[in-house]
Amino acid sequence: MVLRSDRPAAGAGDRELGDLQQRAVAAYLGLAVGDALGATTEFMTPTEIRHRFGVHREIVGGGWLRLQPGRVTDDTEMAIALGRSILDCGRVEPDAVAGAFSAWMRGKPVDIGNTVRRGISHFRRTGVAHVAADDHNAGNGACMRCLPVALRHCMDDERELVEASRRQAHVTHNSPSADAGGEAVLRMLVAALHGGTHSALRGHAQRLVARSPEYGFDRRTVTNPSGWIVDTLQVVFQALFAHKEFEETLVDVVNRGGDADTTGAIAGMLAGAMYGLAVIPTRWLAALDADVAAVCRQQALQLIELATCRAGGLVVGAGGY
Ligand code: MN
Ligand code: MN
Repeated sequence: MVLRSDRPAAGAGDRELGDLQQRAVAAYLGLAVGDALGATTEFMTPTEIRHRFGVHREIVGGGWLRLQPGRVTDDTEMAIALGRSILDCGRVEPDAVAGAFSAWMRGKPVDIGNTVRRGISHFRRTGVAHVAADDHNAGNGACMRCLPVALRHCMDDERELVEASRRQAHVTHNSPSADAGGEAVLRMLVAALHGGTHSALRGHAQRLVARSPEYGFDRRTVTNPSGWIVDTLQVVFQALFAHKEFEETLVDVVNRGGDADTTGAIAGMLAGAMYGLAVIPTRWLAALDADVAAVCRQQALQLIELATCRAGGLVVGAGGY
């Protein structure tokens, strides 16, 4: 991979990273910059965005949450909580995931979805780290935080990936339709981490549509996507396959408004994994909250280390990370 000299996006030492490692870091930072960029236009319409910004393409904070520039929201924060619990346990343990989410909620996060709040409250009340199946509640809240599962299971077979996905998702979201969408995103992430390009990722998206036709994304351009996972992924897929660049993919989704921080987050992790670290705009990385950026980078590398150790048959003590 060529590091473009006009975009020294990589931090010190990143030039020594292997391809899998740099894609993992790019996916995690892509999630965070997409979240921070999209939070500004969350719940706006494309017309409102156009009047206010022309084209929104800078991390400036604000939005309905009145964020500091570079501040991320629940999408990134929940991924970090999930990632930490996976590193502590060596795998996706629902009780540990629910405990991590509960601790996060105790810290009074800047934003939290209703379904997430309900799931965490259910765990606190009952000690049960999964909610009942409910296909009327197919929100995007489990998919938005799924990246650590892809990193942990990037060397494993699909069955393990899918089972781990459900263990983390069902802590708050338990819907066959949302499961299917989230699992497609995980398959796309794993493919991209291993160098898969548009055609490989599109194949996964098309297999999702064949199985769950509500996800069909070729018809009309979706604007103002709601928190429904189908709306969210239609926007992400349309933008991902319409562009050949990281920046343009994210600019496309966040200018459609609606649940823009979450379309930004999911598009960011996929585009980050696919295009790699060198093309994430320097100005976005510079704007990102420095502590968040450091945690994203560190977790990405530790999760890949865990994935490759486990795949190599080495035993890693729980808590060793
Ligand atoms: Mn959010
Ligand atoms: Mn959101």
